Amino acid sequence: MPTYCIYVYFTWSLNLLKNLFIETIGCQMNTRDSEIMLQLLEQNGYSLSADLASADAVIVNTCSIRGKAEQKAYSFIGSLRRQKEENPDLIIAVAGCVAQQEGEKMRVRMPHVDIILGPQSIYQLPDLFLQVAAARKGIISTSQSTDFTIPSFLPDLKHGLPHKRFVTIMQGCNNYCTYCIVPYTRGREVSRRRSDILAEVQHLVASGVREITLLGQNVNSYGNDQPREERTSFPDLLRQVAAVSGLVRLRFTTSNPKDLSPALMTCFQDLAILCHHFHLPVQSGSNAVLAKMNRHYTVEQYLAQVDGLRQACPDISLTTDIIVGFPGETAADFQATMDLMEKVRYDSAFSFKYSSRPPAKSCDFEDTVSDEEKAQRLAIFQNRQKEITEERHQEMVGQSLEVMIEGISKMGQGQWSGRSSHNLIVNFHSPATYSPGDLERVTITESCFNSLRAELTQKENVKND
Ligand code: SF4
Repeated sequence: MPTYCIYVYFTWSLNLLKNLFIETIGCQMNTRDSEIMLQLLEQNGYSLSADLASADAVIVNTCSIRGKAEQKAYSFIGSLRRQKEENPDLIIAVAGCVAQQEGEKMRVRMPHVDIILGPQSIYQLPDLFLQVAAARKGIISTSQSTDFTIPSFLPDLKHGLPHKRFVTIMQGCNNYCTYCIVPYTRGREVSRRRSDILAEVQHLVASGVREITLLGQNVNSYGNDQPREERTSFPDLLRQVAAVSGLVRLRFTTSNPKDLSPALMTCFQDLAILCHHFHLPVQSGSNAVLAKMNRHYTVEQYLAQVDGLRQACPDISLTTDIIVGFPGETAADFQATMDLMEKVRYDSAFSFKYSSRPPAKSCDFEDTVSDEEKAQRLAIFQNRQKEITEERHQEMVGQSLEVMIEGISKMGQGQWSGRSSHNLIVNFHSPATYSPGDLERVTITESCFNSLRAELTQKENVKND
């Protein structure tokens, strides 16, 4: 470490804890990255604060998957300008996909930002803070390497619910779906070492965690970038994580349907702790649109996968992502998406109007669907999906389910809130006292759009889910 860094570190560590405010926009990958950055800075004299006005440092972890998320990031970063003028010692770091994508352009547009760092640079954040404090000039750290290795990292459990955690298993994506910027912002696929993943899961479980969600942009291709002799497939990784003693629930996200293998479907039969939920983004119900999106599967193949999953796990909850108004999407293509929704009957769906995201390839396609038409199609899709979600929830009334407790529900004393294996929020009354992560068996009595109401299952009525 250079002398000036040792000096800054020494004087810094003599100070009282400094306040760190973090604004996270976007997906679970960003949530996990924010947790890592927080832990690294807590080890270096910072303490998380919810008070932006008194912050000594601010991290904005950005998302650029949609135009709206990027605008939100820029508007938040812009709002920090005055605070920086009033407190020049304030350190502002911008991380995530917008930072990676914009780099120098962001520095020109937002000169009050001190550090611009991409997803591969988050582990260097304490060093970058030291450099900024010493040199008092902005830093851009957005280089991407194909040799990048996700460092070994053992998380602490200081923040968030104590019983569940995300574990990143890979970064980046090789698929180049034509609407998506992830391969440009998060780089090519890099799988984390299996031994590091298992060590992190074992550490978390030993610290009291009961539920793990394995994270990656396309978890099904986990291991494909590793040397053949060291390669572990995603289903094999799942089996090894599921075998960690003390782990009670296991989830994963996200999957590209083109890589969903029969071996993964079998995991739902074999692994008792694998939760009955699969997020399987389809994006469109039209083969013409799917081909233009470069998704590498057809509607027929997708439906066969849905059948396979439902055979392996009859009560599996299926959720998806949909884009409406992709360039060239005709009224018939949109109707095909509606038809697919009726066939699959998703438990819920994230749906969006198409927006072009440079440098994704679809920016070169003619945007043939007017904004008004996109809005109309989105409303039609969302209204029908809302009805299906309500119908699916209604079908659960009378079923006995195991829920993992998250805490006291907003409804007050004696009311508890938990999640089913399907990842649905279930609220129920019980005179018992629970800790987060405890399991309780309840019978669903009422369905609402976003949650279910339940009562304790009478012991004599207990059956398996
Ligand atoms: S699979 Fe496609 S949509 Fe998903 S992250 Fe990769 S490029 Fe983007």
